[in-house]
This record gives sequence, C-alpha cells and structure tokens, in this order.
Amino acid sequence: MHFFTRKGKTLYAEGVSIEKIAKEAGTPVYIYSNKTLKRHYHAFDAAFKTAAHIICYSIKANSNIAVLKTFADEGGGFDIVSAGELFRALKAGADPRKIVFSGVGKRTDELEYALRKNILMFNAESPGELRALNAAAKRLKKRAGFAIRVNPDVDPKTHPYISTGLKKNKFGIPFETAIEEYVYARKNLRNLDPIGIDCHIGSQITEMPPFADALKKTKELLKKLRAEGLAIKYLDMGGGLGITYDTEAPPQPSKYGEAIIKETTGLDVTLIFEPGRAMVGNAGILVTKVIYTKDTPSKKFIIVDAAMNDLARPSLYGAYHAIKVVKETGRPEITADVVGPICESGDFLAKDRLLPEVKSGELLAVMSAGAYGFSMSSNYNARPRAAEVMADGNKYKIIRKRETLEDLIRGEKA
Ligand SMILES: *Cc1c(COP(=O)(O)O)cnc(C)c1O
Repeated sequence: MHFFTRKGKTLYAEGVSIEKIAKEAGTPVYIYSNKTLKRHYHAFDAAFKTAAHIICYSIKANSNIAVLKTFADEGGGFDIVSAGELFRALKAGADPRKIVFSGVGKRTDELEYALRKNILMFNAESPGELRALNAAAKRLKKRAGFAIRVNPDVDPKTHPYISTGLKKNKFGIPFETAIEEYVYARKNLRNLDPIGIDCHIGSQITEMPPFADALKKTKELLKKLRAEGLAIKYLDMGGGLGITYDTEAPPQPSKYGEAIIKETTGLDVTLIFEPGRAMVGNAGILVTKVIYTKDTPSKKFIIVDAAMNDLARPSLYGAYHAIKVVKETGRPEITADVVGPICESGDFLAKDRLLPEVKSGELLAVMSAGAYGFSMSSNYNARPRAAEVMADGNKYKIIRKRETLEDLIRGEKA
C-alpha cells in the first residue's frame, strides 16, 4: 500500500505532481511519501499491540535523517549496523534506549561510541565480539546489555546474497554454541548483562514458515537459558518481511503479528522487530528522465539518467522493479531494456520490459525503490548522487540536495 497514484494521466506523490518535483528538483530523484512511511510504521506497531514490543527500524534500508525522524516521532526505535547509522539516528532524535546494534564486524571505536550513548542492546555475533564489548565496557565503566545473534540454520527461501540464517552464512553464533557463550559471559564477562536473544534470518522473505521455524528454535534457547538462571527479557526477531515488487504476496504485518503473538504469549518477554524493507520499500520511487531511445537489430534500449550507482538492486540481485511512465501518452507498448549511462553491461534497471513507447525528455518512475535504493547508491563513474525528496500532503521538501561536482572531490588532494 502506498500513495503514488495517478490523477488523470499524471502520477502523483501524495498530493504533489511528480512532473513538478522533477522539474524543480531535477532528475534522477528519489521521492518518498511521508504518509506511506507513517502508515507502514503503524501497521507494524498495531500488529503487536497486544504484546510488549519495540519496532526498531533497520536504518540500512534507508538512512536519510528525515525518514528516521518520521519514525522516531512516531515512537519507533532503530536497528543500527555502524557508528555512522548511530550518528544518523541520534541526529534524527532517536531514543538510545530503543536502539539495538547489529553486525558481524563492530569495531572497538564503534562499540565505545554506542556504550557512551547508552543504547539498549548489542546483538553480538561472535565470541570475540563479546570479549571486545566487555573490555570496552570495563574501560568506560559501563554495563552493556547484550543478545547473542543465533544462527538457527533455517532457509529463508530468498536471494542467496540476502539469506543470513543458514549455517554457511557469516552471521550469528550457531545454536549449539550460543548457550555456552551466554553461560561463559555471565560468569566471566562481568561488565555484560545477558538480556536478549536475537535472530535475523534474511531479507525479502515472502512466507511465514521460515520465521516460524526460527522462532521455534529461539524459544527452545530461551527456555534453556532461563533454566540456567539467565534473565532474558528481549526476544529480537530481526527483520526480513518481504514486500510486493511484482507478484509476490508476502504476509501482511497483521498476519505476521498474529502468527508471532500466538507463539510468544506468556513468555514474559519484550519483542523486538527490525523491519527495514517492509517499512520503506514501497514508500519510495526513483524518478528518472529518458535521455535517448535506441533501436538495434536485436533490442530496443531506453537510456535514462538513473543508473546502477543510483539503484543497485537490479544489477546486484537481478531484482525486479516495476516501471511506470509518469505521464500516460496512449502510445503503444514496446519491449525494451531500461539502461543507465554507466560503462557496464550490468547497468540496467529493467530487461525486456513491456512499456509504452517513450521519447527523450519524458519521465519514468521506478517503483518500490524506497529500500536499499539511495542507501546503496555510490559515485561510480563520478556521478553525483541523486536528490531525495519527501512528499507530505500537497507539499514536498528536498531532504537531501543533489550532489554537486565539487562534492565529488571533497577530501581529495592531487
Ligand atoms: C538488513 C537487516 C535487517 C532489515 O532487513 P529487512 O529485510 O530490510 O527487513 C534487520 N536486521 C538485521 C540484523 C539486518 O542486517
């Protein structure tokens, strides 16, 4: 569900014409819908209203501080994976007591920064990290609440690059050894408090069974840890709920909530969720202008001003994004590749796509680009990164200026 709909022939972001935004902010431009962001937050929050819970939006999906502020203002927490994301969250007004810190490779300076800010919980992913966290906490005379991210060895049935809960993945600590680490930490790592269990199995998961399997294993661990006398208070289920890019039909947050609540009622824990994609994916689009069209004997190409540096998902995962013409023209449909200007054949936004014929200067909207869009963008081919815009009712605001050529060489020296 989102608020990018047509009024007559023209696509709108809430009450604002996308043609108007593109004219004023230029292209390529990411456009987010504030109403959609709020709606998604509340859909998730409402799904767990009968249980103690914290929604910790996973910042890496979209880290613009205006997006973060929208969630912080609604009472949301955050899942961070770097010092940079902590910095962003705090700038956006986040409550540190609703921040959890994930990631396999947290550096000492990052652990210390998060300790100084008194975040809620560190989701530790290795024995080495637990020891480093304890040492850092000791140096700073702090206590650190931690969860162990357990690897439940379940197949989330998603793209291999975004599967994280299989034995062969780099993430988490195997179930069998997690209990030993908790017991060791309680006894020997005196600045740590074992307060949670964490489990994140992957991204763009479109069915319930992988989540249910992971939860089942997590509950067994909870039981064992409590039997050891550990006061586990938080069950962090991670993120991963998928969205509709094409024809996928992932569980609605309400169904996801129902299934989880059914399995966790009476456990006396606060549930933590780390949704990223489900919160922002369909709340954003990437608008791009057609530069040229080119017909070759084997294919038609629509060459646009957005490229793989702006939106990496098609190149990286072979991901599908729906593409719409911003203004309907009534022209017949053609089959074409939509490609960017970058010097790589992997630079495409869509392959063999059925689209109305378009002309130079016309606009296309790449849908469902709010998650892992701008946040994965780069300056490859010395391309300044796109502007970001937030639509809100009949108004819009530039929430990140388009980069300039000078921005490209900031910090460099010849
Ligand atoms: C990426 C990530 C998430 C968010 O995943 P989505 O699929 O975007 O919901 C949550 N938790 C952790 C630890 C992650 O790495």
